[in-house]
Amino acid sequence: MITKRDNIRNIAIIAHVDHGKTTLVDGMLRQSGIFRQNQKVEDRVMDSNDLERERGITILAKNTAVTYNGIKINIIDTPGHADFGGEVERVLKMVDGVLLLVDAFEGPMPQTRFVLKKALALNLPAIVVINKVDRQDARIDQVLDEILELFIDLGADDSQIEFPVVYASAREGFAKINLKDESNDLKPLFDTIVNYIPAPVGDSQAPVQVLITTLDYDDYVGRVAIGRVFRGTIKAGDEYALCKKDGSISKVKVSNLFEFDGLKRETAVSASVGDIVAVTGIEDIEIGETIADVDNPEAVPYVSIDEPTLS
Ligand code: GDP
Repeated sequence: MITKRDNIRNIAIIAHVDHGKTTLVDGMLRQSGIFRQNQKVEDRVMDSNDLERERGITILAKNTAVTYNGIKINIIDTPGHADFGGEVERVLKMVDGVLLLVDAFEGPMPQTRFVLKKALALNLPAIVVINKVDRQDARIDQVLDEILELFIDLGADDSQIEFPVVYASAREGFAKINLKDESNDLKPLFDTIVNYIPAPVGDSQAPVQVLITTLDYDDYVGRVAIGRVFRGTIKAGDEYALCKKDGSISKVKVSNLFEFDGLKRETAVSASVGDIVAVTGIEDIEIGETIADVDNPEAVPYVSIDEPTLS
């Protein structure tokens, strides 16, 4: 039975360092009402990892979810550098579309070219967000031309080239469809995401497949495996097959299941096709492995991380 998950959108943000990804996600979180009154507002929501801050690049894929008009938008961070080629592919497998975030002065940068190329090759629709339009030195028209050239250069197909454009100031918290529009919030961005990025589609009754794309660690529950439900419905407390990368299969139990809500994880009883979930209880699980139906264990084809990453 094919289900369309109308109340979910899964997107990844592709952005060069300093083009405003953290500020934008922060703004989306605030405006979707995630920061409730007595909840402490973290300054830098996506860059919570000190190592990342030190290196000034985002190494780990981070998950955030915002809810807009009853639709949950899962936002997956993508590593900005080609060095993390394999990780980029895995992250892109979790989503149904991407936001290409570009600084209105700097224009598209070579480091994001690689990630965009992968996204286009995977047939993902892209929304272009030209950020920092408040800058005095913004050169919005030229930057848009440069982005169009980049899409053509990367072999984007006709529908990908007709990308929607959103003009934003993440810092001031607004987004516009036309530069002349009046806007003091990010609603036009939320609307574009909801309207342009397809909802996940799949069989919620098929034998389950969850592809693990990120690992995390929690002092209380140990290893946390994060991934997307590709097929079926996974339930907390049930037994599954773990399809390892070496081809072996072992029986495992999913202790707990979580979904993302803002920056937090919320426990869930079950999760279905298209959901991004965190799973605990499987200590030896690795990135690229599949949690599958115990009687019908089939792995989601694994993407090698050793492939050449230069393009
Ligand atoms: P990230 O590296 O992509 O996460 O970028 P940040 O969100 O950390 O932003 C980098 C710098 O750009 C910070 O100093 C932000 O305050 C600034 N910035 C972000 N968005 C805007 C914007 O819309 N307008 C202006 N003028 N500056 C911005």
